[in-house]
Amino acid sequence: MSALLNEDERALRDAVRSFLDKKVAPLVADHERARTFPWELLPPLYDFGYVRGGVPESAGGDGLPMMMQAILMEEAGRCWGSLRTTLNVQGMVARVLGAAADAGQAERFLRPLLAGRRFGWFGLTEPDAGSDAGALRTTARRTGDGFVVNGGKLYITNALGCDFGILFARVVDDDGTDHGITGLLVDAAESRFGVHDIPHMPLRSTTSCELTFDDTLVPAGNVLGGLGGGLSLGMAAVNAGRLNMAMGAVGLSQACLEESTRASRGAMSAPWPSTTAASRPGARRPWRCSCTGAPGSWRSRRSSATSATPARPPSPRGPARSRSCTSARRCSATRPCAE
Ligand SMILES: Cc1cc2nc3c(=O)[nH]c(=O)nc-3n(C[C@H](O)[C@H](O)[C@H](O)COP(=O)(O)OP(=O)(O)OC[C@H]3O[C@@H](n4cnc5c(N)ncnc54)[C@H](O)[C@@H]3O)c2cc1C
Repeated sequence: MSALLNEDERALRDAVRSFLDKKVAPLVADHERARTFPWELLPPLYDFGYVRGGVPESAGGDGLPMMMQAILMEEAGRCWGSLRTTLNVQGMVARVLGAAADAGQAERFLRPLLAGRRFGWFGLTEPDAGSDAGALRTTARRTGDGFVVNGGKLYITNALGCDFGILFARVVDDDGTDHGITGLLVDAAESRFGVHDIPHMPLRSTTSCELTFDDTLVPAGNVLGGLGGGLSLGMAAVNAGRLNMAMGAVGLSQACLEESTRASRGAMSAPWPSTTAASRPGARRPWRCSCTGAPGSWRSRRSSATSATPARPPSPRGPARSRSCTSARRCSATRPCAE
C-alpha cells in the first residue's frame, strides 16, 4: 500500500498510526473486556480527519479526498475494530447531515457532532429490511405539528449511549398516501422510544441495538431534506460506510499479520511455558531455531545438523514394509504384522 501513497497520504498515515499506537492501543483489551468505550478519545481523532473528512468544508467538515478517508479507516481497523465501527457510523451520520441539514439542524446536530460533543446513530436496518433497505416498514404518520412513528429497527450501532439519531421511516398520511422513505432526526431529549442492546461476540465495545417506536412523536422541523428523499440520502452514506468497512478489514488483516509475525518470533526465543508438559526436566524443544537471519543460513544449518546426526544402523530385520511375517502361522503380510 505504501508505494501507492503520495507524500501527504504517507504523512497522514504515519501521524494517525503513531497516535493510535500510543494513545489508543494500550486501552483496547480493558475496554473490550469491560464492554466500555472511551468516547473522550474521539475529538482528538477527529482532528486527523475522522468523521469530519466526509463532510464538505462548506458544511463545516474537512472535505478530505476518498483516498485519505480510506487510509484513516485502514489505520482505525488496524488498531481496534470497535473504534473503526464507531468512527464509521459517526461519519455516516455526519455525511447525511452535511448533505441535508438545514441551518437550524446543522447548528443543533451537525456542529456538535463534528466537535465530538454529541453522538448519533444511523437507523436504517429492520428485521425484514437489511440489504433491501427500500423494503423498510417503519412508518411516520403525519399529524398537525409533526410525525407519529411506529415500527422497529435492528442492529443499530451505539444507539444505547448516543444523543440523537437519523431514523429512516416511510411517511404516510391518514388517507394512506405514501410519501416515501424520509430521514427524521430523533433526539433522545425530546422523543421517547425503546432501546435495548443485543450483545455480540466481536466488537464488544460497541452496542448493536434494537429500537422500538410505539407512537413516538417527532417534531415536524426534524425532517432531513424533503419528504421521500431519505433512501438516496441513506444509501449514499451506506456506500461510504462499505468502503470504510472494507478498509477497516484491510487494517485488521495487517494487524493480524504483524501480530502473528511478532508472536512467532517471540515463540522462537522464549522458554517453554511452564504449564506445558514439555517443560518437564529433560524435555527439549524440537523446533527451536537459532537462525541468524542471514540469507541461506537456515538452509545451511539445517543441512549441517542433518549431516551431524549419526546414521541409523540398518535394522537386522530389514525395512518394515518388506519384512516377511515371523508368525508361526506364516501369513504373507508385507506390512508390519501385529503378530
Ligand atoms: C455489527 C453490525 C453493525 C450494524 N450497524 C448498523 C447500523 O448502525 N445501522 C443500520 O441501519 N444497520 C446496521 N447494521 C445492519 C447491516 O446494515 C445489515 O446487516 C446489512 O444491511 C445486511 O442486512 P441483513 O443482516 O438483514 O442481511 P440480509 O439482507 O438478509 O442478507 C443476508 C445474506 O444474503 C445476501 N443477499 C441479500 N439479498 C440478496 C440478493 N438479492 N441476492 C443475492 N444475495 C443476497 C447478502 O449478501 C448476505 O450475504 C449492522 C450490522 C452489523 C452486523
